Amino acid sequence: MSYQMLNYIDGTWLPATSGETIRITNPVNCQEVVGTVQASTKEDVLNACEAAKKAAKGWAQLSPVVRCHYLQKAADILESRSDEIAETATREMGKRLIETKGEVLRGASILRYYAQEGYRKIGEVLPSAFENNLFYSLRVPVGVVGVISPWNFPIAIPIWKIAPALIYGNSVVFKPATETGITGAKIVEVFAEAGLPKGVINLVTGKGSVIGNAIVENPFINAITFTGSNSVGKTIAQIAVEKGKKYQLELGGKNPVIVLEDADLELSAQLVVEGAMKQTGQRCTATSRVFVHSSIYEAFKDKVLQKVMAFKLGDGLNDDVTMGPLASKSQFETVAGYIKKGIEEGATLLYGGEQLSDEAFRDGYFIRPCIFENVTNNMTIAQEEIFGPVLCMIRVETYEEALEQANDTIYGLSASLFTKDIRKALDFVKNSEAGMVQINGETGGAEPQAPFGGMKESSSGTREQGQAAVEFFTAYKTISINPNYTTV
Ligand code: NAP
Ligand code: MG
Repeated sequence: MSYQMLNYIDGTWLPATSGETIRITNPVNCQEVVGTVQASTKEDVLNACEAAKKAAKGWAQLSPVVRCHYLQKAADILESRSDEIAETATREMGKRLIETKGEVLRGASILRYYAQEGYRKIGEVLPSAFENNLFYSLRVPVGVVGVISPWNFPIAIPIWKIAPALIYGNSVVFKPATETGITGAKIVEVFAEAGLPKGVINLVTGKGSVIGNAIVENPFINAITFTGSNSVGKTIAQIAVEKGKKYQLELGGKNPVIVLEDADLELSAQLVVEGAMKQTGQRCTATSRVFVHSSIYEAFKDKVLQKVMAFKLGDGLNDDVTMGPLASKSQFETVAGYIKKGIEEGATLLYGGEQLSDEAFRDGYFIRPCIFENVTNNMTIAQEEIFGPVLCMIRVETYEEALEQANDTIYGLSASLFTKDIRKALDFVKNSEAGMVQINGETGGAEPQAPFGGMKESSSGTREQGQAAVEFFTAYKTISINPNYTTV
């Protein structure tokens, strides 16, 4: 099955004004074309932003209770299309079908969660120094929101941006990552099928390097929500500041786990391996560095190795496969480059790291999951985000030493500690420089009702999901009504 997807502007599916399309290939076998998306131009961006601007007022005026029904309907449609959308996402970026299916269901939960926001309070009544004045605050829409998303969670991330944008009364211009443009277009189909008024959601696909700036700069865009790399995030922030727009950035991570001498060995090894290797390590919350107490180091290492050696690589559409390929050629090259660098800098490659060379894998972007030891925290592989199936093991003598090194990074997305010592657990909660903290848990994972995001350079300091989303997707209006409208 090959899909030919169009842009969606002002309620109509349209080809790009360039007349050109972009081919999306399957990372399992780069000869297989999954389909095409539109190679949009700045003119298409302008048309999408104009349509969103035109629709914003009417959408904002609808009661949130009415907007709720559109999100509920979208959740039902998304669920009913879960097999097809999950399969498309797996073919576009390679993660296992069980993972993309889970992501579709998560998308539906996020839609249902934000649908209910339509029934919750949108302001507060306040006392006033002026007697009898009615004094209150209202949460009002920001206007038109630009949504720019990455390929690694091609379903959940767009939805956790679009759903709160819509329920709080904003219209949307959405640009998915090119690698997962077909999945992105299918998400927009879901909203279109749910009957959203024309112009409330608009889709423009195309390379971020070509149309990204046009979206962020467009005068009709009031706010921009972005998840992706730090380098692109910085550019977006600079433009947003210059143009006076609201912005939200969720960026990279270099997430540490500390395993202390009293940790449950089986649990910690299992969750460290899952944390590092799920989605072939391509999660912003992936476990990247593990600090292990020297007294259990060897036993822990053996367990980790055993689990990593058991991975079966292949096409994520097959049930028995436990790890898919890297998502693209550039991902493959970046990860291979970091592995080479790790060896050059003197880390010991314990296992994996090589490209699969068998006939069946030749046209795919497969790298065997990789474990390094004798890593020091100042090595490139311990400092830069690799975004692949690579785990760095670092031996430590004390919790304090581990904590200091765990925090010694520009990133601060998630961090985890395995211990039974409640005092150390509480100390870690307090002193770990991460937005998401786990005790005896995996670094990855998020739930729709909880704020999600990082500290330091992992985020712009804003938070997504849960009630936190209201901060970004609305503006406060403070209202004072004086009932005494005459001087008598
Ligand atoms: P990316 O290259 O920064 O791309 C993200 C999005 O930005 C894509 O839609 C991309 O379009 C677009 N883009 C590229 N250049 C642009 C420009 N100049 N202006 C505006 N938009 C532009 O990131 P990625 O490789 O897709 O994703 C991996 C990164 O995302 C990792 O660093 C990961 O840690 C981070 N991430 C963070 C979170 C979080 O919540 N903290 C979650 C997931 C991923 P094209 O696809 O067309 O290039
Ligand atoms: Mg990219």
